[in-house]
Amino acid sequence: MRNNVISVPTLVRVKPGAIDRLGVYIRRGQFTQAMLVVNKDLDQGLVARVQKSADDHGVKIISKIETTDSSFEFAQDIFQQMSTSVEVIVGVGGGKALDIAKYVAFLARVPFIASPTALSNDGFCSSRSSLDFKGQRRSFPAAMPYGVVIDTQVCLNAPKILWLSGIGDLMSKLTAVYDWKLAFRMKGTQVDDLAALLSDATVFQLMAKPEYDLEGMRLLGTALMLNGIAMEICGSSRPASGSEHLISHALDTINSRPRLHGLQVGVASYMISRLQGRGAERMNTFFSAVGFWDAIKADPFIRRDWVEAFRLAPSMKPDFYTILSEKDQTAELVAIMDTDKCLSGVFV
Ligand SMILES: [Zn+2]
Repeated sequence: MRNNVISVPTLVRVKPGAIDRLGVYIRRGQFTQAMLVVNKDLDQGLVARVQKSADDHGVKIISKIETTDSSFEFAQDIFQQMSTSVEVIVGVGGGKALDIAKYVAFLARVPFIASPTALSNDGFCSSRSSLDFKGQRRSFPAAMPYGVVIDTQVCLNAPKILWLSGIGDLMSKLTAVYDWKLAFRMKGTQVDDLAALLSDATVFQLMAKPEYDLEGMRLLGTALMLNGIAMEICGSSRPASGSEHLISHALDTINSRPRLHGLQVGVASYMISRLQGRGAERMNTFFSAVGFWDAIKADPFIRRDWVEAFRLAPSMKPDFYTILSEKDQTAELVAIMDTDKCLSGVFV
């Protein structure tokens, strides 16, 4: 029986119009003094809606931070200048604002409410913050959000490519769980059955209804959130990240042109599922139905970057056993890349 203590969000709202109720949610948590962290390029109309909701419910936004970067130094500066009367930090926007807000909240030991305005990856509900440190992207320990507020209408108004990126990041859970079980068989890495089950189950819910509408957004938001919780349950990234993420991390270091994390991960997941000999057909059917392949083909990946990434991937996390640890799989992955009909047009 597991008896470790984990923290999970207390407040969860996933629905259209949720952003207009942020003030109600903040107030219900008995908070009246808030710090708001938003992306500098966030639609001012959204910022005004958050401000109005706060005003209407007696919540004072005592400082508003606009983020242009997600550096560790910037987060530290905000923390040092932060008023001690801040009771809660609310992050609204994309990854940069949420990662900064989450880390500052962790340093200040105040609750954090994450309100993503697009669902392009699973980072909004995790106990890690991804920040730039000395020119490199690093993952820092942080705290789970106290609240997750996803306005599905706001997310639906964001460019569709961000939803597809979230879909790609979610599909990686299938290959990640396979790698995790492989690591158990080969190296004795402990598998947490509940975390693995939760991770798998969230994907199948979305696959059963591949629609780009409010319901599809709700399913994706819930699935990505539950994935963050699966990681919290087992205390590792295993349920959400396997060899497909190693390929994506390797691509980030090559970086001839940065691309959305979930798009890289989604394509890598398909290729890894071919290598694992499980689930590729089902993944292809789903990717075709949601328009994932079409979006990639409209702006293809660079083939030579990927070949280099296949080679580098196992060295990204040396003690992390995956299907790429068994032997050098570069030749197999290149063969899949060059011969699989589903991938035609994905690379140039
Ligand atoms: Zn990911």
